[in-house]
Amino acid sequence: MKDSFLINNSYGKSLYSKIKDLSIIDYHNHLSLEALKKNTAFTDIYDLWIAPDPYKHRAMRMCGVEEKYITGNADCRDKFLKWCETLPKLVGGPLYHWSRMEIEFLLGSEDFSWNDDDLYERLNTHLQKNNVTPRSLLNKFNVQFNCPCASLIDDISFCTENPSLAPSLRGDDIVCPSLDFINKLERITNIKISDLASFEKAVQARLNDFYKIGCRFTDHALDNGFTYFEDDGLNNTRFINLLSGKIIHNDMERLSSHILVKLAENYSRVGFVMQLHIGAQRATSTRLRDVAGKAGGYAAIGNSVDINSLTKFLDDVDLSYKLPKIVLFTLNPSDNAMISVLAGSYSQDGVKGLITQGPAWWWCDHKQGIENMLENWSSFGVFSNFIGMTTDSRSFLSFVRHDYFRRILCNWLGEKKEKGEIFENEKELYLIAEKICYINAKEI
Ligand SMILES: [Zn+2]
Repeated sequence: MKDSFLINNSYGKSLYSKIKDLSIIDYHNHLSLEALKKNTAFTDIYDLWIAPDPYKHRAMRMCGVEEKYITGNADCRDKFLKWCETLPKLVGGPLYHWSRMEIEFLLGSEDFSWNDDDLYERLNTHLQKNNVTPRSLLNKFNVQFNCPCASLIDDISFCTENPSLAPSLRGDDIVCPSLDFINKLERITNIKISDLASFEKAVQARLNDFYKIGCRFTDHALDNGFTYFEDDGLNNTRFINLLSGKIIHNDMERLSSHILVKLAENYSRVGFVMQLHIGAQRATSTRLRDVAGKAGGYAAIGNSVDINSLTKFLDDVDLSYKLPKIVLFTLNPSDNAMISVLAGSYSQDGVKGLITQGPAWWWCDHKQGIENMLENWSSFGVFSNFIGMTTDSRSFLSFVRHDYFRRILCNWLGEKKEKGEIFENEKELYLIAEKICYINAKEI
């Protein structure tokens, strides 16, 4: 993309020229560890660009494209053409921008149009000629540290071969464990799980394994409806009921609250950052879930977070001085101010940025959402503590979103500098941008 894309002022353009090539630290995404391990070359642009991207599937559905051209059994070429037909309709939106950036990045050229008759063949020839693999893409994007999420029971041995790769621990199945999860955890750790204490022991053992292979980030979904229950001393009984398949729904919620507190304390012990992704409404269309699977691009934004639950959870962990570093992601924009302010309510002696707000996430990851987040966090939080961008994506081409974020950040800082609202000189401004695009994520 031209260096001026999304940047309309000279300070911003100058700043962008200095930070655009910084390495990428992507501290949470959904890339396939299996695909990284196999590193099979992509031979069809549909498999690389469209199949793993539920955002694109959603947009096509909204434009009336039949499902057979989205996740169905139509030819890859026909599916590609349907996506190219859809793109001009999305003018101004993030997919419109990202898709252009993705293909320009891949080809290293701006010389193409979605209407080109031979674009599909040209892209496939490019893939085949250049042996484009998952790992070659990461190298080309200059990704220094890549954190695909993995469950506590997943095979993570492959990560030991690659110092730039470590899983981001997906903790939801620890907090709400199934019998299958518990059985697998027993097998992996060789720890017999017969009560809550032995479950915690097995979890701790596995957390240590994750730490040893470089894991530093964890992730929990606090979806719409997250409710926190204080410990009432009955959670061991509830866990034993779970083991015998007799736990009732309300008891599971109470047990989950207890496990979440214990996990946060353990993350603090091990030195993991706890990411809380707050406010998704995942259960929308049952029909689409059947068609497209549980991450098929039909989720929505949930209600505003139950702030009493969130504050009580943080307080219970804070009382024992065991809060880990926490990054709070908000999906409902109406939560932004509330969460930014809350982040400053648990500061500990001598600790910088113990709790921060994360970047604009999922449905808010676009120009307007990123600008809102920058305004929000600078107004209510401490701007220079901002951890910066992560893709949270399933696609190997989504790293262009770091470039997208960097452009919007430089434009935003440059505008403020031009208006006389920022007093730092260009060198000092660069140091702030460098922290947000790279150093804060590296040092957290
Ligand atoms: Zn995620």
